[in-house]
Amino acid sequence: MSDDPGKIRCDACPVLCYIREGMLGACDRYANRGGKLTRTDPHVLLERTKSRGGELVSFAGRSRDWDGKLVEGPETFVTAIGAGTTYPDYKPAPFIISSDVTGVDMVTVVTEGIFSYCGVKVKIDTDRHLGHEATPVRVAGEQIGHVTTAEYGSQMLSLGGVRHLTGGSKKEGRVTCQSLLDLSNRRPVEVTVDGGTTVIIEAGKAPIINGQLEERMRVGCGSATIGMFAKQWMGLVDDVVVVDDHITGVLSEHQAGKFLGVRDTGIKMKGHRSTPGRYFKVAQPGTGWGGTDLSDPLSILRPFDPKEAWRGLRLLMVSTTGEHSAYFELDEALLPVEKELPPALKLSVERIKENCEPALSTVLFMAGAGGSLRAGVTENPVRLTNSVKASITRVTAGGAPCYVWPGGGITYMVDVTTLPDNAFGSVPTPALVGPIEFTMPHNAYAALGGHVDHVRRLEDVLKEHGKKRVAAP
Ligand code: SF4
Repeated sequence: MSDDPGKIRCDACPVLCYIREGMLGACDRYANRGGKLTRTDPHVLLERTKSRGGELVSFAGRSRDWDGKLVEGPETFVTAIGAGTTYPDYKPAPFIISSDVTGVDMVTVVTEGIFSYCGVKVKIDTDRHLGHEATPVRVAGEQIGHVTTAEYGSQMLSLGGVRHLTGGSKKEGRVTCQSLLDLSNRRPVEVTVDGGTTVIIEAGKAPIINGQLEERMRVGCGSATIGMFAKQWMGLVDDVVVVDDHITGVLSEHQAGKFLGVRDTGIKMKGHRSTPGRYFKVAQPGTGWGGTDLSDPLSILRPFDPKEAWRGLRLLMVSTTGEHSAYFELDEALLPVEKELPPALKLSVERIKENCEPALSTVLFMAGAGGSLRAGVTENPVRLTNSVKASITRVTAGGAPCYVWPGGGITYMVDVTTLPDNAFGSVPTPALVGPIEFTMPHNAYAALGGHVDHVRRLEDVLKEHGKKRVAAP
């Protein structure tokens, strides 16, 4: 108990703040307003009919007055954003709402989860080398995650997680929490990868790598690029090398070139030959040509074979984004001499660029909801997990569809760009607060031991809270 009678205690998270009249709690999410514990953000409704992704309507404190009509229609969805939490977990979720969805009586259980086990997976569309796998990724000098397995045309980061949130120093936890919060709310975060690369990540925007805006992701690996464009080079050039950190392609040796009748040119490559016309490791990874450390592409060529090469042989070297290109002709000594790119080849380089998709940073929030928050849904928590696994219960985050991992628990991922603005919060423990909703048929809710006594009709909830802020549970 507080000695100050003007203070009230918030029990929405383990911090258990005492909050004075007119003041905010440590997380800014709860306030003491007139002696009443109040969730400071408006509760968010989605109206799905308006557009894909839905128009967002603030539920409490909304701009238009409620006109007394029963609800806005069956497409109104009460999200967990601003709803409050179940903490200390034995309580039923703040909102358990029933509504008719195309004639079926559905129940949606709405709560904000407090997640210690959470993080973000970041996909950065670039072939530039950011760092080797497992290299630490830092913000303000604190490790918040690491580089993980690269994907096709993209570098991947795994950030956050319980070890960085609560398993290290206080500062590491604080910095990790703030970084996850910013990334999840689609704000830019600058990270450094040990070894020197800096990346500014903002969900849904192009990454900025070492101060340079990444415009395009690669069209494919070097071999794929040969396959896609081989026909367009016929008659314009004698050989093409597509430089790529993964697979560098050589037209005259590649199956596509063979198929089109490209003659041998006597070209000799460095690196490991994988299959004809496909080479691994022609250079080290880097931020130069095709995600390698190359600034001079000729450094990956050995001398041409004089039995096959000829004076005047025309060679195009190009990267997988078309960002780098150079044109050479062999002199009498069969040495490549750089010349201006002929207009027709310029067009083919432009075509490569045109076929590259815009580079984006993608942020997926990932968390485990298979713990105590289930008690806010049902008295028999494992039944909720089983219901989710059986696809009877649908999991959404702020109304956005989630991917739930197979196996144990309710480990889910959601694209943060599909949630309404500022859907995530944090508490100082440190942990993230994220919206989560479970929707299922009413009879299924009863069957899993749900808090059926706390189910309220959507129209009643709207009527009750339509014109004022929602008090904390
Ligand atoms: S940190 Fe926020 S949610 Fe936690 S007790 Fe304090 S005011 Fe409540």
